Amino acid sequence: MANKIVVPIKQVPETKSVKMDEKTGTVIREGVDSIVNPLDLYAIEAALRLRDRYGGEIVGISMGPKKSVKALKEAVSMGVDSAILLSDRAFAGSDTWATSLILASAIRKIGDFGLVVCGERATDGDTGQVGPGIASFLGIPALTYVSRIQDLSDKLCRAERLIEDGREILETSLPAVLTVIKEAGEPRLPTLRGKKRAKDLDVQIWGNDELGIDPDKIGLKGSPTRVVKIYRPKVARKCTIAEAKDEASVGPAVDRMCGFLADKGVLQ
Ligand SMILES: Cc1cc2nc3c(=O)[nH]c(=O)nc-3n(C[C@H](O)[C@H](O)[C@H](O)COP(=O)(O)OP(=O)(O)OC[C@H]3O[C@@H](n4cnc5c(N)ncnc54)[C@H](O)[C@@H]3O)c2cc1C
Repeated sequence: MANKIVVPIKQVPETKSVKMDEKTGTVIREGVDSIVNPLDLYAIEAALRLRDRYGGEIVGISMGPKKSVKALKEAVSMGVDSAILLSDRAFAGSDTWATSLILASAIRKIGDFGLVVCGERATDGDTGQVGPGIASFLGIPALTYVSRIQDLSDKLCRAERLIEDGREILETSLPAVLTVIKEAGEPRLPTLRGKKRAKDLDVQIWGNDELGIDPDKIGLKGSPTRVVKIYRPKVARKCTIAEAKDEASVGPAVDRMCGFLADKGVLQ
């Protein structure tokens, strides 16, 4: 296999505290704790297991504001070898298309990679589009929902992926992008040695000067999609209450519920 496994890692707001600005349709990030996208921990673990078995080097990359260095350092403390942050005002407001283009350009610049291992989806944007997006910009195959990487050689990767009614085993040429699901393996905890290495590591920061992407294709300007409106759907249910306070009222209450369900076409 080529020398490097690249793992794209997104920093996301802690799920319990995600709040949306209904006017602008964007996530309110101020005053909210940020964490490594929980599903990316499985991508890191999958990459670490491959390195344990086959050797090589793992490069973590993230696109985001400068504070995303923290997410990359966490990856390093788990065992990732090096980290690059893609941070530039020109990248701000990128949708999934522009994000994939920026990440793909960085991966091309890193070079000599056999696999790109992504999480299944990010817990904030939640589209699952970025992994396949990267593959399409790089012109390489993508295997999504990978539950187990069975074998890896210089030219091929054989992996098991989850499909609606079972599993399938696919073989792909390399380089390729994989998006992995939780079954790929429980993420390991950071080690003390890893934490020390992360503390001392200088995370490289690349902007568009390093990547040289056409500015019209990135950021808000280069994003073909926009969040037009975001709102919580109002659920207005007309409920029927059938109370059974004593034994005598159980029968009529059940009859009432059965009548209600029959009216809805649920019971024949
Ligand atoms: C229709 C639409 C419009 C949007 N418009 C805007 C907008 O106007 N302004 C705005 O700020 N945001 C916008 N976003 C959100 C932003 O595009 C996404 O957060 C970002 O592109 C990543 O997509 P995602 O969160 O769905 O990632 P997913 O595709 O769910 O992530 C899959 C995997 O890709 C990798 N990955 C994803 N993002 C990154 C990253 N940044 N760095 C490293 N790895 C990554 C991770 O491995 C992750 O597990 C929009 C999203 C959509 C769907």
